[in-house]
Amino acid sequence: MVNRYCECCHRLAGRPDAATNFYNDHFIPTHWALNYFKLSECLGVSLMGCCKDCGGELEKVIPIQKGLTGDDLLKAIYDTVQTAHPYDSFSTQVGYYGRCEERSRFYASRDEQRQFRHSKQFLDLFNDWDRERAQLWLEQNFPPEKPTEVFRDTGGSLFSSVIRRAKANGDFDRAGAILDYYLPCEHEGGRHEGVKLTAYEFDFVPIVNYGCEGIYIDCYLKGKFDESRRCSLHVGTLKTLRRDLEAAKIMGELCGALMHHASEYVNQNLRRYTPAQELEAEYRQKDAGEAGSHV
Ligand SMILES: [Zn+2]
Repeated sequence: MVNRYCECCHRLAGRPDAATNFYNDHFIPTHWALNYFKLSECLGVSLMGCCKDCGGELEKVIPIQKGLTGDDLLKAIYDTVQTAHPYDSFSTQVGYYGRCEERSRFYASRDEQRQFRHSKQFLDLFNDWDRERAQLWLEQNFPPEKPTEVFRDTGGSLFSSVIRRAKANGDFDRAGAILDYYLPCEHEGGRHEGVKLTAYEFDFVPIVNYGCEGIYIDCYLKGKFDESRRCSLHVGTLKTLRRDLEAAKIMGELCGALMHHASEYVNQNLRRYTPAQELEAEYRQKDAGEAGSHV
């Protein structure tokens, strides 16, 4: 399904065969993307790219089987990203070939990438809310080959995991009944990939306060959470429209529960937050130890 039209082909909208012909000649893929609100409603994987002539943005959507959920859905998305090669053919003798060389090179270089790179790109397709589920699926199906390779959380995915834990433990029920919404923060003006957390010397700090319409809890990471010099990161917001004392107490109690579950989650998944240098030092030490034991 052709989903975007550049300046040279906008007149082809509504003429699927002509648009397909145009894409066949002009479409250079650049990266994969998932556009969805709820993952269970995701209809397909997008191959994003540009037009060979004008450089305008183009998009080809590859549908995935309807009705898939859970691990089956993740597998279908993964397989599509690893194997789909729209507008090109493949032969074992010559590899990918078609009407556009740059496109064939894109598919060939995808196939040459290391597994860990595939896994990281797959993870970045998901929004903060679904990232943990995708991480767990990867860890089960494509566990990293080296101890220095870890699947990082983002600030928003940490927030989402904390909410999920609070819910599973029954600590979300009272607040859940009065909440208007709760949302992980898409960082830095909505950049989809978010900020990867690569250090653990931070506190998860929920701050409850009155806002323009009701009571808000804004959650921050305070301290060192990556290699930038920032020391505060907004990771998510919860809001109720109520302003009364009972609502204030419920929101205050929820802050305590979130703080607790965040601390527990980070401690149980400390490896995901260990700085790369520390992981490498540990790996070198282990390597040297093993080498020494063979002497
Ligand atoms: Zn164009």
